[in-house]
Amino acid sequence: MARSPEFYDIAIVGAGPAGAAAAISLARAGWRVVVVDKAVFPRDKPCAEYLSPAAEPLLRELGALAEIEDERPARLRGFRVFAPNGGTFQGDFAATRDGVGQSRFATGLAVPRLRLDVALVGAARRAGAEVREGWRLGRVERQGTGGLWTLTPSPEEATISARLLVAADGAHSVVARRLGLHTPGQLRKVALVAHLRGIAGLGEYGEMHVAGRRYVGLAPLEPPEVGDLCNVALVVDEARDGRALAGRAESFLLETLETFPGLRGRLAGVAVARSALATSRVDVRARRRSAAGLLLVGDAAGYYDPFTGEGIYRALSSARLAAGVADAALRDGDLGVRSLARYDHAYHDEVRGRHMIEALIQFGVQVPPLMNHFARVFARRKEMADTLMAVTGDFLPASAVLRPGYLLRLLG
Ligand SMILES: Cc1cc2nc3c(=O)[nH]c(=O)nc-3n(C[C@H](O)[C@H](O)[C@H](O)COP(=O)(O)OP(=O)(O)OC[C@H]3O[C@@H](n4cnc5c(N)ncnc54)[C@H](O)[C@@H]3O)c2cc1C
Repeated sequence: MARSPEFYDIAIVGAGPAGAAAAISLARAGWRVVVVDKAVFPRDKPCAEYLSPAAEPLLRELGALAEIEDERPARLRGFRVFAPNGGTFQGDFAATRDGVGQSRFATGLAVPRLRLDVALVGAARRAGAEVREGWRLGRVERQGTGGLWTLTPSPEEATISARLLVAADGAHSVVARRLGLHTPGQLRKVALVAHLRGIAGLGEYGEMHVAGRRYVGLAPLEPPEVGDLCNVALVVDEARDGRALAGRAESFLLETLETFPGLRGRLAGVAVARSALATSRVDVRARRRSAAGLLLVGDAAGYYDPFTGEGIYRALSSARLAAGVADAALRDGDLGVRSLARYDHAYHDEVRGRHMIEALIQFGVQVPPLMNHFARVFARRKEMADTLMAVTGDFLPASAVLRPGYLLRLLG
């Protein structure tokens, strides 16, 4: 017999970084919050596992940083980028300068998702949110305009009712698709992500290698004095490579690594520490990120391409924006379209310029002579490379790159 529904102020679907972060902020604000996730944590996720420097203060604010630091995560000082012709440049997270003109360095954390996501889910519980694991959303319905949401799990058991629904269920969001809010993007990519040991020449920098319209990111997961565990994330075209890798993801990954000029001679001692996870079609666009009684956060609000590795920061920062708007709307008793559209506007303002930079980088990946040219310019002008790192590290605004002087020097 079906049990009667349980009532909450806010129901959040997905307990990844976006859902957990929204839950923490809204539970701290005093609302009755439930977060459901089909997975049981710790759960893994295909991800390059690098966090841009601006994510660290957000993790501290959310009460999850101490647990992450206890495990001695790697700290990356910037990235080394290798172009198709073997040209290379280095960018440091160092665009801020103190009073005597010295660069101050920020660092990006590199943390396995098995640890990061558990720390955030734990912080959500401590903040007072109810977290239900192994709870897969089946149906989502709203009773008229202004009514309550009803969420039904699959397999069917007691439903959940809530005034506000937050979709944090990732790039393949069931909520966004059921409500017709997603359109597929144009990039058709497949990503393969493994943990490897034994790559020679790793240090305190992440690496991006581009060749043959493919790219691979290396993020050391242990400080050099602890070990050489490294996240290796290969991204390829679905049309070109999809068939070649079907059923042999790991051997395809290992063979393809050899084709990047900057990795030749560095792979002799490689051993697989965690097998490859695969994901496809990461590019999704949301038509809108809010509707009456509904907010989309994290990847559910849209995702383009992993090259700049800003997804986790965006998940945390979009959750922060959404929680602020949701708190005010619940207090005003107005969860209508216009009230919640404030989140959509704020999100758009924050992300629009960054999308343009991601599209420019993607263009460079597809056109090798352009990427070779970018690498030449950045190698000559270190300050421009540092500025790009600070923007993709999320601690300088996109306008630091999207200004005529910078773009002319880059293209000239
Ligand atoms: C190959 C690759 C590499 C990447 N590398 C980086 C990187 O280095 N740095 C970075 O910052 N970002 C990176 N990203 C992006 C990053 O992984 C995402 O942006 C981030 O995970 C978004 O968090 P989220 O909470 O929105 O979604 P997710 O982390 O995807 O969490 C969504 C949650 O929803 C749950 N869920 C889904 N459907 C249902 C359902 N029906 N019912 C209940 N629960 C459900 C899932 O189980 C999951 O736990 C990468 C992405 C890819 C694809």
